[in-house]
Amino acid sequence: MRARLVAGNWKMHGSRTSNRALLDAVIRGMSEISGVECAVCVPFPYLAEAAVQLARSAVGCAAQNVSEHAQGAYTGEVSAAMLAEFDCRYVLVGHSERRQIFGETDARAAAKFVAAQAAGMAPILCVGETLEERDAGRTESTVARQLDAVLEKAGVAALAKSVLAYEPVWTIGTGRNATPEQAQAVHAFLRGRIAGRNNEIAARLRILYGGSVKPANAKALFSMSDIDGGLIGGASLVADDFLEIVRAAESRG
Ligand code: PEP
Repeated sequence: MRARLVAGNWKMHGSRTSNRALLDAVIRGMSEISGVECAVCVPFPYLAEAAVQLARSAVGCAAQNVSEHAQGAYTGEVSAAMLAEFDCRYVLVGHSERRQIFGETDARAAAKFVAAQAAGMAPILCVGETLEERDAGRTESTVARQLDAVLEKAGVAALAKSVLAYEPVWTIGTGRNATPEQAQAVHAFLRGRIAGRNNEIAARLRILYGGSVKPANAKALFSMSDIDGGLIGGASLVADDFLEIVRAAESRG
């Protein structure tokens, strides 16, 4: 059975003081939860402090973005090796905000995926369709294109050390939800596509759902057979809400 994972994405929120309190509460809460892995994607400047606070806790440290380049004249970028020095276990790759706001292409997401793995981190590859693409019946072709870019560059074996996150763009930070059935259908499609290349890797791959997951809808989403946890934005900034979502993943098992 696939181990559940719930990852919080703080996006560009927080301060040294508020982070400390939030992590304290999440660490404390996680000490009473079993059977679910938990990680938080922290903004770059806070990683060093978070890594110290999270050391020896049940909460993993993660980053929100990574450069595809190993080093060099890339002002403002942060390499995978730098993140690895701060105990980052995971890093988001291809988040829809990176794709939509910063123009990141499928090829660039694939290059970031490879760079993250080369430094020993597990990329969380985010895929998802816009509302326009869904309405045009292009949900599957969109997520397939995003996934295939990584499969072509990294090979299917690389997925064994990664996580996939299905995040419909129209549900992120909007308060709109995909129904559990809508989400399950896309998760099953993604798993099936990977199974076409390697059954075992597909069966073991954790596919998270993200997009306005809240305590009220988490349980129904996580009860679906191909949903292995969540990528949580807004609700990860409130310790009680985040922990309730983690508990909802625990109760599926
Ligand atoms: C996200 O940041 O990936 C996300 C899913 O955000 P939210 O939960 O706020 O929709």
